[in-house]
Amino acid sequence: MTATTETSSADSPAPRTSPSSVDSPVERAASEFHAPVIDWFAEHARDLPWRRPEAGAWGVMVSEFMLQQTPVNRVLPVYEEWLSRWPRPADLAAEEPGEAVRAWGRLGYPRRALRLHGAAAAIAERHGGDVPEDHAQLLALPGVGEYTAAAVASFAYGRRHAVLDTNVRRVFARAVNGREFPPNATTAAERKLARAMLPEEDSTAASWAAATMELGALVCTARSPECGRCPVAQLCAWRLAGSPPHQGPARRVQSYAGTDRQVRGRLLAVLREAHHPVPQAVLDRVWHEPVQRARALDGLVADGLVEPLAGGVYRLPRG
Ligand code: SF4
Repeated sequence: MTATTETSSADSPAPRTSPSSVDSPVERAASEFHAPVIDWFAEHARDLPWRRPEAGAWGVMVSEFMLQQTPVNRVLPVYEEWLSRWPRPADLAAEEPGEAVRAWGRLGYPRRALRLHGAAAAIAERHGGDVPEDHAQLLALPGVGEYTAAAVASFAYGRRHAVLDTNVRRVFARAVNGREFPPNATTAAERKLARAMLPEEDSTAASWAAATMELGALVCTARSPECGRCPVAQLCAWRLAGSPPHQGPARRVQSYAGTDRQVRGRLLAVLREAHHPVPQAVLDRVWHEPVQRARALDGLVADGLVEPLAGGVYRLPRG
């Protein structure tokens, strides 16, 4: 359950295919993967709060927003606090958007907090406060893209959707396509493969989606896949080919130090901790380089994360 601000993708709903209607030997072999991966998941899945029945669809949705580009261990405390403060979408919708940004803390990519607030408001307004089940209705919510719509429909409601995050893409790249890493951006071919790999039955497909994601997170990791404890080691195309090294374009490495993201993070930290408008002079202390600092602040204002007030003071946004 990792993605980005919708940089991961999924195609949904997926057409049901019979083994004879898929068009490659690889896809015909898909069913061989299902039982071992799903059985492994039943035994090894982490007990995460958003997987418990009491999380409900809102808990699943909150977790999916938070887990985009943020690891589980950093999400856990913020998720718990968020759900205890705003147990229903309407509770969050009733707050100022700036409170969502404040509670987001240091999870990073804080526009997700605003998007989640916007989605909660739309759920309260259009759906009587209940997270919709239908993929198209989920997709119509502000801030919800293909990945999140498919993940919520699948994990919260047991619907059959291809949920294609970075972990799943890596598992498919290795186990099915025989490559160490997937392309930098999700391709149509990956989406087609993910649809072809889906089990027929809804609940099995939902288990498969969660199981492949967990396999990528725990075993088939980017840096050091543990093939010795992988349930599909005997089927894995990459392993059977002798684990050839990556040959595609260089993989992107995200940097942080010295970037505008870092400056934005520092500015926002000051505003989160202050419960009153903050003068420009206080914000000026967070970063030594004035041009970059101004650019970062302008960006926060443009993104709606910071509200400029008369007199050169700033605060988190109010509705
Ligand atoms: S055998 Fe290794 S590379 Fe293949 S899917 Fe399993 S962990 Fe990943």
